[in-house]
Amino acid sequence: MANSKYEYVRLFEQPDALLPNTWIVVRIDGRGFTKLCAKYGFEKPNDKRAIDLMNAAAKAVMTDLPEIVLAYGVSDEYSFVFHKTCQLFERRASKLVSTVVSTFTAFYIHSWPTFFEGSLINDVPLVAPLLPTFDGRAVCYPSVQNLRDYLNWRQVDCHINNLYNTTFWALVQKGGMDSVEATELLKGTFSADKNEILFSRFQINYNNEHDMYKKGSVVFRDYELVNPASSNSAQAAEAVDSVAEPPIVSKSKAENDKKRRAKARITVEHIDIIKDDFWVRRPWLLT
Ligand code: ATP
Ligand code: ATP
Ligand code: MG
Ligand code: MG
Ligand code: MG
Ligand code: MG
Ligand code: MG
Repeated sequence: MANSKYEYVRLFEQPDALLPNTWIVVRIDGRGFTKLCAKYGFEKPNDKRAIDLMNAAAKAVMTDLPEIVLAYGVSDEYSFVFHKTCQLFERRASKLVSTVVSTFTAFYIHSWPTFFEGSLINDVPLVAPLLPTFDGRAVCYPSVQNLRDYLNWRQVDCHINNLYNTTFWALVQKGGMDSVEATELLKGTFSADKNEILFSRFQINYNNEHDMYKKGSVVFRDYELVNPASSNSAQAAEAVDSVAEPPIVSKSKAENDKKRRAKARITVEHIDIIKDDFWVRRPWLLT
């Protein structure tokens, strides 16, 4: 073991292990994406290439880190949920956050050409210095209810922002307003008002917009879906209803689960995660 008179500086490192037995959420967010969108010509309000790219990077992160049970993405952000029993990096916050952020960023940049280059109408190579970068933070949620409320918060935010952006950009792109006029018109409006503006002025039924934009993206490991009518699912429903905590698992089961998780297919869906149905049909996610 290397020993030097300088070794003492290690003592300046502060412990940052996250609270045990809690669900860890690492949320990353694009830095200055408003500017980045403008530079690389993202379509407004939603550039599908950019969302597909976010989702590809999130899938790569989940493949790399089997301890992640689920991820939820919208706009330039992604939340990664680590299982409450996760022991990766002894749960050190700086290690977890920096690993997620750099893995995500590496795959985002690596996959950029797949989504933004390769044809005459779609050829937007990355050019320094304005390159995609992300920040990140970790937050612990002690109960399944808290965790689900966190995810609900993000999905509700997705809905509110998307309805606003869809209306705003319709006013600008189809209604000939400038951004000051559109902002002024939307000030103080409720959801119903925006739905009405979209429908009466632009014949857009918001309900018919893509779920990818309305609901965001949910990434998870897919096993066999539980049939809502089976007894298996009745138990799961009960567990979700009472937001019961998963039991403490034995080491061998944990190892087995880890292997199964590492092998499972990772899918991206644009679905409601606020209602119980998503969780009832996939009881393995929060157990
Ligand atoms: P910060 O560094 O503080 O996060 P930011 O400019 O990234 O600043 P955000 O609040 O994160 O601010 O907003 C992200 C911006 O990127 C929003 O304007 C959002 O509309 C835009 N954006 C993200 N993804 C897309 C997309 N797929 N298509 C179009 N616009 C997008
Ligand atoms: P961890 O994920 O725990 O950091 P690690 O394999 O990255 O694991 P480190 O202690 O960070 O372990 O060691 C980095 C390794 O990379 C060392 O073996 C080091 O010799 C090697 N390495 C780093 N840079 C170079 C380089 N430029 N040329 C040759 N080897 C290098
Ligand atoms: Mg930010
Ligand atoms: Mg951002
Ligand atoms: Mg953001
Ligand atoms: Mg090293
Ligand atoms: Mg290293």
